[in-house]
Amino acid sequence: MTSRLTDLSVAEAGEGLRTGAFSSVELTRSLLDAIERARDANAFITVTPEIALERAAASDARRAEGTAAGPLDGIPIAIKDLFCTEGVLTTAGSHILDGFVPTYESTVSAKLRAAGAVMLGKTNLDEFAMGSSNVTSFYGPVKNPWGPKDGKDLVPGGSSGGSAAAVAGRLSLAATGTDTGGSIRQPASFCGIVGMKPTYGRCSRWGIVAFASSLDQAGPMAGTVRDTAIMLGAMAGHDPKDSTSAPVAVPDFEAALTGDIRGLRVGIPKEYRIDGMAGEIDALWRQGVDWLEAAGAETIEVSLPHTRYALATYYIVAPAEASSNLARYDGVRYGLRVAGDTLDEMYENTRGEGFGAEVRRRILIGTYVLSAGYYDAYYLKAQKVRTLIARDFSRAFETVDVILTPTAPSDAFAIGDKMDDPITMYLNDVFTVPTSLAGLPGISVPVGLSARGLPLGLQLIGRAFDEETVLRTAGVLEQAAGFDVRPAAGAG
Ligand code: GLN
Repeated sequence: MTSRLTDLSVAEAGEGLRTGAFSSVELTRSLLDAIERARDANAFITVTPEIALERAAASDARRAEGTAAGPLDGIPIAIKDLFCTEGVLTTAGSHILDGFVPTYESTVSAKLRAAGAVMLGKTNLDEFAMGSSNVTSFYGPVKNPWGPKDGKDLVPGGSSGGSAAAVAGRLSLAATGTDTGGSIRQPASFCGIVGMKPTYGRCSRWGIVAFASSLDQAGPMAGTVRDTAIMLGAMAGHDPKDSTSAPVAVPDFEAALTGDIRGLRVGIPKEYRIDGMAGEIDALWRQGVDWLEAAGAETIEVSLPHTRYALATYYIVAPAEASSNLARYDGVRYGLRVAGDTLDEMYENTRGEGFGAEVRRRILIGTYVLSAGYYDAYYLKAQKVRTLIARDFSRAFETVDVILTPTAPSDAFAIGDKMDDPITMYLNDVFTVPTSLAGLPGISVPVGLSARGLPLGLQLIGRAFDEETVLRTAGVLEQAAGFDVRPAAGAG
């Protein structure tokens, strides 16, 4: 076990709490100190030291009484600032939610709290989770703890970039993220941590600020696959308050990590070998195949023929849903209000000032593709292609148990890069978006470094509600890669 408390994994910290090596208050203090020292990284929008220390003390009291809840009791975690937290500012990274303090708690953060986890604060994100860089946040960009490189600060990826940077920078033992098209997996890859988007419906969306409701899914981000499994176990489960949450039992995800993948059939989709992909990403992908084969798996080439339509489909469906979801921010109900002479003018002023450029772009695209003359040509067509993409996966999963791909087409780029060209930015999600459209579980596991010395992840995709196979395979990949998942010069 390492000597700094901030360096511990969730599992190790749980062990230390159980044996009494340290208290939750001590552990929480060391992370709050680390957050203070790393203010410049901008990973948090709001830090909640009073809440954290109070919950840590309550956990220590439970432990003294012998009523500690389970593996997360007393473990400090960070919550993406897209989850509503009772009595704590919730911004979604947007100016338009200025001063919005929810009177209720999202189901996922409530479940984590009930499991005894200690909230350190709310992490920074791209505005309304729209982005791949964290640069669209009203609260300014987050710095990836693996930077700077060549004199430039790096993005942590996005939209859950604050969560990824907090875990990688040893400011939090684990964090929540949300993933609509890649927002957990891509930042996990950029920051060298594990991030999992569960099956759509696995975790409740209730109390999460909505971006694209048919795609949004909460998931865990952590330093190891085991920690990811522990977090998911607490976050998952049916919720009567979310009609799209699935009434399925939550398995013991940690128990799925047997390390045994003998006989597993791993699909390699040929369409993911895209033009212009960096050689080092391709090499790492091949290395991943070798690792899984050495562990007794069989790899099989599969075809997902509609992959090339996935980004275009996503950038119709997601903005369409976003334009509808974001209609509620009108200056009356939430946060910011900018006065005008008439009601309409007040709406316009509020929305004009409250939303950033990327959010406005998405609302415009969404309204356009849903408009009477264009609905059939764009939105309806996109929905049909979405079905074809989902069918590709169903067919592939008739012959394989899990699919292996790269997570992202590059390593972390510099803050400010790709900002003047939205299409280049959208390409970040070329490998993650198809899974989202199909509603399937996907995980990013850090497995190596790029030539520039920055982390790279591989993605594993599974059948719906088969997170166990995904996690088991991820554990084997993690073991084989033997990658130290967080930067040596951590902030702790
Ligand atoms: N980068 C993608 C987008 O901007 C995905 C975001 C997400 O998953 N929330 O839409």
